[in-house]
Amino acid sequence: MSRSAWVEINTSALRHNLKRVRELAPRSRVVAIIKANGYGHGIERVARVLRGTDAFGVASIDEAQQLRASGVTQPIVVLGGIYAGDELRIARREALDIVVHSSEQTELLRAATADGDAPVRVWIKLDTGMHRLGFAPLDAHAAIRCAHDCAAVTRNPVLMSHLACADEPASPVTEQQRVQFEAFTSGYPFERSLANSAAILAWPQTHYDWVRPGIMLYGITPFADRTGTQEGLTPVMTARSNLIAVKRLARGDAVGYGSSWTCPEDMPVGVIAFGYGDGYPRHAPPGTPVLVNGTRVPLIGRVSMDMITVDLRTQPGVRVGDAVVLWGQGLPVEEIARAAQTIPYELVCGITPRVRVVEVQEPT
Ligand SMILES: *Cc1c(COP(=O)(O)O)cnc(C)c1O
Repeated sequence: MSRSAWVEINTSALRHNLKRVRELAPRSRVVAIIKANGYGHGIERVARVLRGTDAFGVASIDEAQQLRASGVTQPIVVLGGIYAGDELRIARREALDIVVHSSEQTELLRAATADGDAPVRVWIKLDTGMHRLGFAPLDAHAAIRCAHDCAAVTRNPVLMSHLACADEPASPVTEQQRVQFEAFTSGYPFERSLANSAAILAWPQTHYDWVRPGIMLYGITPFADRTGTQEGLTPVMTARSNLIAVKRLARGDAVGYGSSWTCPEDMPVGVIAFGYGDGYPRHAPPGTPVLVNGTRVPLIGRVSMDMITVDLRTQPGVRVGDAVVLWGQGLPVEEIARAAQTIPYELVCGITPRVRVVEVQEPT
């Protein structure tokens, strides 16, 4: 018998969330970000469902090649860019857009010749304060000149940068980064891109020509104290399982590894087939909510590889086989992430390969 852990992917919700992006940024085109296997939702599936987008964004050449091999014809932006001459050749052959963020990468462009393959479009990345990838403003002018002189590059680069604190509405950093970006780019006639999901939702002045939504496409908010539903988004992933055992334990019985949780009274305890081997966060503490038959019950004991245990005192009638939701429909993944002191991005990306995936289309 196969394990009962599975995730449901609601394709209608994906389409709805893209529509929501377009409502919020009506004058921008959309690069749908589907790196990390579509944030754990299946990169090819997400690309197929979101074919109404203007472009896709992935982290690496490998992910881009996988998309081209599966028949994706839209522009694909490789956010990490290229790290070797053959990657540039692949980018040209597969018509990929590449981000250029370092002098090593401009050197690779300089070394390229105008041979048979078509030139690629580059997205030149400025560091406006995140201090991860990107050119300092002075170097960025040189990078733009270099791209202009390069036979392997088209004449219409996009100028982009990435925001460090867009998910903090009270932070001054976003406005500082925007001002820097504006000052640098306004002298050029090129298209511009700055906004991730948080900026699409909270900072309309950052939208420019291309927005780059990731997490919000999956129905999840980037803001720590909210849920996607409150932003007009619909959760796409629901992680599901079943009860595989119901035990009647006695007061004083300890549950799970480390015997760290002890029954305060005689009580029913449920065992659910979903553990950290499936992507449930191992650090979720006792009290983290789990839905059993649509009702919240608290996690107890430690999370194991294949199982978790829950307190069924409020649900004495439940039976083996009853339905469980770990997060998604009826239980926001944002809430589970908060309980486990992580972010919802990590939870959805962390679903492991052994978990079955079932596509559903449920009206939003
Ligand atoms: C991942 C990524 C995004 C999307 O970020 P979200 O917070 O998921 O919307 C946008 N731009 C770049 C450069 C990224 O790497």
